[in-house]
Amino acid sequence: MAFRTLDDADVKGQRVLVRVDFNVPMQGGAVSDDTRLRAALPTINDLRSRGAKVILLSHFGRPKGARVAAMSLAPVAPVLAKLLDAPVGFASDCVGTAAQQSVAAMVPGDVLLLENTRFHKGEQENDPALGRAMADQGDLFVLDAFSSAHRAHASTVGIAQFLPAFAGRAMQRELDHLEKALGKPEHPVLAVVGGAKVSSKIDLLQNLVLQVDILCIGGGMANTFLHALGKPVGASLCEKDLADTARAIMTSAVRNNCEILLPIDVVVATKFAANAPHQTVSLDGVGEKDMILDAGPQSVAVLNAAMDRAKTVIWNGPLGAFELTPFDAATKAAARHCAALTRAGKLVSVAGGGDTVSALNQAGAAKGFTFISTAGGAFLEWMEGKALPGVEALKA
Ligand code: AMP
Repeated sequence: MAFRTLDDADVKGQRVLVRVDFNVPMQGGAVSDDTRLRAALPTINDLRSRGAKVILLSHFGRPKGARVAAMSLAPVAPVLAKLLDAPVGFASDCVGTAAQQSVAAMVPGDVLLLENTRFHKGEQENDPALGRAMADQGDLFVLDAFSSAHRAHASTVGIAQFLPAFAGRAMQRELDHLEKALGKPEHPVLAVVGGAKVSSKIDLLQNLVLQVDILCIGGGMANTFLHALGKPVGASLCEKDLADTARAIMTSAVRNNCEILLPIDVVVATKFAANAPHQTVSLDGVGEKDMILDAGPQSVAVLNAAMDRAKTVIWNGPLGAFELTPFDAATKAAARHCAALTRAGKLVSVAGGGDTVSALNQAGAAKGFTFISTAGGAFLEWMEGKALPGVEALKA
């Protein structure tokens, strides 16, 4: 996938509009986690060092087109200034007089944060007038928010219609890794997909069976597949109405030479609670009142052996109810094995989406992966094989 990066841009003295994702967690009006601010530092520092005027745009929360004081980005500016060790200006609107005057006063190397783009209704509607007004304030556009790239909003793709658009450093890193994992991966490719429900991941499973060599299905969604195969699932989370969908996915897998791994043993309990009395049983040993809450050790051994054969692992979703000990055991054991193989240089591992990051963090395995994407929806849409409008806008 060829896309334009900052290496292709001549930014000296230019006003560079940078779409970042500063949708940071806040508590009591203060930033409580600066991970997303740190993610933007390589791009901001690169642009500053090359004499650009850096103008930052982001959404924050869901104000739905109204000015909501609690969703102002103002508290972010001083935190970013500290991280950059440089002043960060703030304009009380992302377009209009306030923004224009602040931009006009900038000199090369300056950083300016504009107010929440979602204070304008046109942002989420991708109103061309808003995209144009934003674009008029800059000479170049840099998209550095992969997590927002699946949304065609004024500040993600609208601006790109009026200005030359480039991927920022975080975006570039993300796209390079995603390309290695699913675009042009080294085979065999193993996908591990867990989580609660098949219904939220039908498109993803259907796409993966066409792309990967081995698909391991775990978590609550595996129960629907086991049910479709005629196995008892007792009182487990199971979408029985999706049995046909599960069978269609398995048929498609056979047709496309994709091996599907389902649990061969499971950990059951009669209560959905931490430390609930539990036992490991074979697939035929699930009782009427039992809930399958995790994959068993034999299933993990099969998955780990598949990782030993793989050159690329792509992971989304936990293999069990990982928030409740000891039903995090399978996720932890498999994640650690994946991290160890990655550290040993035996495979490329990419994980992302929703709960996956916290599950891998909890396993102490996240640092061992080649790349962890913190983007939720965008990561899933990319795994579904969909074209992300923000990425399309950057194609060379
Ligand atoms: P998702 O957001 O689809 O990735 O699903 C993550 C959620 O699935 C987590 O909250 C897990 O606790 C839950 N989950 C995984 N396996 C099971 C299971 N066997 N039974 C119930 N919930 C599960």
